[in-house]
Amino acid sequence: MNSIVVTGCNRGLGLGLVRSLVGRQDPPRTLIATCRDPDKAQELREIAEKHRNVHILSLNVRNYDSFKDFATQVSEIVKDDGLNVLFNNAGVSPKYTRINYVKVDQLLETFQTNTVAPIMLTKALLPLIKKASEKNAGLKMSCKRAAIINMSSILGSIESNKDGGLYPYKCSKAALNMATASLALDLKKDDVLVVSLHPGWVKTDMGGNNAPLGVDTSTESLVDLLHDMGPAHNGGFYQWDGKQLPW
Ligand code: NDP
Repeated sequence: MNSIVVTGCNRGLGLGLVRSLVGRQDPPRTLIATCRDPDKAQELREIAEKHRNVHILSLNVRNYDSFKDFATQVSEIVKDDGLNVLFNNAGVSPKYTRINYVKVDQLLETFQTNTVAPIMLTKALLPLIKKASEKNAGLKMSCKRAAIINMSSILGSIESNKDGGLYPYKCSKAALNMATASLALDLKKDDVLVVSLHPGWVKTDMGGNNAPLGVDTSTESLVDLLHDMGPAHNGGFYQWDGKQLPW
């Protein structure tokens, strides 16, 4: 792929995705890594200092009013080539969310970050994504052409829900999965690939120390998957190792 935007890159899986992407033999020509406060994103800034293809842009994904300006900044970087991939990675998962403890504020904040933001950011960047698809009209549907990747979770799978609880997180990711399904249908005519991915249960601030997977194991596999996905994957839900998951 020529260009990719990844959100939430100052820590966790977003930072891991940046590391895995720049470490490839064929790294993206342009990697736009966003975070809320670049001044505090030391590790990310160190990567950008070593790799000239990494551009850091400031973005709070709940600040929807900034998306128009953000799209302009992305456009100035990618120019006429458009944007190949939007990877909606930033997310939150509040604690203490069983039915007797869950709060309205937690539900709303989690929906805003995990569901509303990916949809509205997609809307804002869609002209650039469609431009990339048109520019690469000879290629099949893929991340090389144009794609929207939503970082979901197995916890957003209704069929896999055996534990209950986690109302804000589970509902927000189930809703994100529906957004993936609708976007895949809406953008099929434009040959834009749209999928939900589950990174596995990963050792990050969100995943905690008991998680079986390290960040780099997950993100190396996710980047392999980005390279491997084609038209048959469109509108689907997959985990880090490529296995398809139930909705
Ligand atoms: P972390 O908590 O480690 O990191 C979350 C990232 O999202 C941070 O960069 C954070 O930035 C960013 N973020 C949160 N809110 C906003 C916001 N309003 N604007 C911009 N950035 C924001 O989580 P992970 O890295 O583990 O999770 C990344 C994605 O993977 C999430 O979507 C998560 O749901 C998903 N996932 C993770 C799993 C795991 O086991 N770890 C399992 C399944 C899915 P800041 O530092 O500024 O808060």
